[in-house]
Amino acid sequence: MIVDRQGRRFRNLRISLTSACNYACTYCVPNGKRLVAAQDELSADAMARGVAYLIEAAGIERLRITGGEPLVSPKLESFMSAIGQMGLDDISLTTNGQLLTKKLPLLVDAGLRRINVSLDTLDPAAFRSIARGGDLASVLDGMEQAAAAGMKIKVNMVPLSGQNLDQVLPLLDYCLERGFELRFIELMRMGHLAKDANAFLQQFVSLQQLLTLIGERYEYAQTDAPVDATAVRYAIAGRGNFGVIANESVPFCRTCSRLRLSSTGWLHGCLSSSNRHYVGDLLDKPRHEALPALQRLLMKALGDKQEVAFSGGATVMKIIGG
Ligand code: SAM
Repeated sequence: MIVDRQGRRFRNLRISLTSACNYACTYCVPNGKRLVAAQDELSADAMARGVAYLIEAAGIERLRITGGEPLVSPKLESFMSAIGQMGLDDISLTTNGQLLTKKLPLLVDAGLRRINVSLDTLDPAAFRSIARGGDLASVLDGMEQAAAAGMKIKVNMVPLSGQNLDQVLPLLDYCLERGFELRFIELMRMGHLAKDANAFLQQFVSLQQLLTLIGERYEYAQTDAPVDATAVRYAIAGRGNFGVIANESVPFCRTCSRLRLSSTGWLHGCLSSSNRHYVGDLLDKPRHEALPALQRLLMKALGDKQEVAFSGGATVMKIIGG
């Protein structure tokens, strides 16, 4: 097993199935253009082989499928059916929910039991101005149907100063009423926000600001979380839980166990490092040739992790797999 001096190893793999997305969220895509798939994206077979090899070479236990938007990818069905056989402890998927109603039967048939849906507001006008694609009603409908089909749902919200702070309590109420867990994600200095400190600071909302806002309506208490969890979790007695992924306020680099594989075959050991390691060519090789080479690259990728705190990264989230 590959372990670093801080005792960190890769347990959680995030696969960006495609960089294509049917949204162009303001904090993710600066120019407002929705993305098509990169020309040199890996096939579903190669990606599934990548997962199998990384389970062996790195000890991956949990997999999250992300993007881009994974539900727009034609590879989704064959990829899902291949990874279902690999004995992973947990498979989950992060989606903007726009195509959830349409793809739900496929996800249920593939055995998926939990999803994260990104939703920054319940206000249709604010939705249009932040996501710059899709429509709110489809997302809400998709979540209701997924819940009715027995899926466990977490909702991801990025609070943005001046844009959706008035939605923190409505979204929390919406989630508590339905038994969904709301996860607030502190804005991260990724892509254009890593280069423009003003744009970042104007929009950034800290953990403390959020808790103050939530405290106006609810009493909450911090709860325990697994050692390599990224979220700080809170319980509202008798109502449910919420979490905050507080990259800036409570950095979690010391216990980070994440590895990312991009849709074009690059391994990323850290969101905050510009280093990446190409493995696309190894995925066509037989196991006995691929694994030793993969392990050498995994050592490098583990060495890319920050010691203490996230400091921003030039790569855009939709490329690296948010
Ligand atoms: N399309 C899918 C979705 O919307 O969930 C998956 C990919 S998206 C890049 C994954 C998550 O990254 C979303 O919840 C999105 O809000 C978040 N994200 C993107 N850029 C971010 C940033 N700069 N800071 C914090 N979260 C970000």
